Amino acid sequence: MKELTDRIKNNGRVLGEGVLKVDEFITHQVDPELMDAMGKRLAEVFADKKITKVVTIEASGIAPAVYAAQALNVPMIFARKSKSLTMDEELLTASVYSFTKQVTSTISISRKFLSAEDNVLLVDDFLANGQAAKGLIELCQQAGASVAGIGILIEKSFQDGRQLIEDMNIPVVSLARIASLHDGKIIFIEEDA
Ligand code: 5GP
Repeated sequence: MKELTDRIKNNGRVLGEGVLKVDEFITHQVDPELMDAMGKRLAEVFADKKITKVVTIEASGIAPAVYAAQALNVPMIFARKSKSLTMDEELLTASVYSFTKQVTSTISISRKFLSAEDNVLLVDDFLANGQAAKGLIELCQQAGASVAGIGILIEKSFQDGRQLIEDMNIPVVSLARIASLHDGKIIFIEEDA
């Protein structure tokens, strides 16, 4: 998606260890106009899949997920990384290891929000090693829900996430695909979702 790749070129910054900082417009400060366009684009791609829920993980997945859900006219659910005192219902839970933060967290969604009737679109800001996506897929599986696909804003294609998800026969659509972040330079895989 050209608006996104242009914005990454202008406002993205490469940190060491293959990490891309996009806090100017996605992960801290949010550009609502771009986020709306990206959510609509993901919704368009999955428009014929009869999606019933959009599911993401807090915090940076929430903005794109809510715009995608609005465009699909379905609810959005975000998995929580810490248990809230108000979550007194039965929970779906999975463990997610974060390579960027080097910690394992337990993510959860109240069972009442997902069922075997649901056909889910997963949305997240980044796809790196695929652990966050795998955790969300596990939550859907525990509920008996189907996962129709995963929509990602920025895929770091030099990491294993896409392969991991495709091996589960789940389609992956990424609005920007990054081939490498060597020497502080952002190289894209030139194709448009
Ligand atoms: P994965 O589980 O696919 O390895 O990583 C996904 C999560 O890690 C994303 O939800 C995102 O929060 C974070 N992440 C992974 N790589 C990057 C990166 O290069 N930049 C930023 N800002 N977050 C990242």
